[in-house]
Amino acid sequence: MAGTTSGRDSPARQHDGVSVPATADGPVPHVPIGLVTPDGQHLQVRLFERQQIELDSGCRVWRYKIAAPMWQAAADGGVEAVGFTTWVTADVLRPYRCVAYNTIPSHRVPTLPPEPETWGWVLRPVLGQRGRAVVHESNCRHAERAGAELQTEEALNALMLSGVDACHDCDAAAVLIPALQLGEGHG
Ligand SMILES: [Zn+2]
Repeated sequence: MAGTTSGRDSPARQHDGVSVPATADGPVPHVPIGLVTPDGQHLQVRLFERQQIELDSGCRVWRYKIAAPMWQAAADGGVEAVGFTTWVTADVLRPYRCVAYNTIPSHRVPTLPPEPETWGWVLRPVLGQRGRAVVHESNCRHAERAGAELQTEEALNALMLSGVDACHDCDAAAVLIPALQLGEGHG
């Protein structure tokens, strides 16, 4: 396991030592993201992909695949870094500024022709209301043809302007508002 030794010497950097899944093409792409644990701690974890699923009710929701850092006892008597992988929803994730989340694979329930999608944001002016705009997920039904895709940092900056709100029909409000409240101390 790469990074095991340095991780042991420097617990604060232990997430650096977590091994990530690999395919024949190399390591699986991932980006850092904040996670709020059930007891309120904030961890940095790895985000691998997001997937839309359809509930029994017919409602469609997004799930996010993450790996949290953990140790496990190794055969040589020491410890080695491992990634505990699980799926979570957006309301426990806290995106960091300056991280390009649109590099993460995104899989929507196929109704239309399946095509790779990304997790990005767009700013759409409110028609007839000068100075007002709404940030949407780029896949939001309200965001069609709204303009250029924003990185997370750009979306957060836009939300700090008066007159700009986050959409509640997509993940924009659930993901970006908590990240905004977290301030600039992360990422
Ligand atoms: Zn929206």
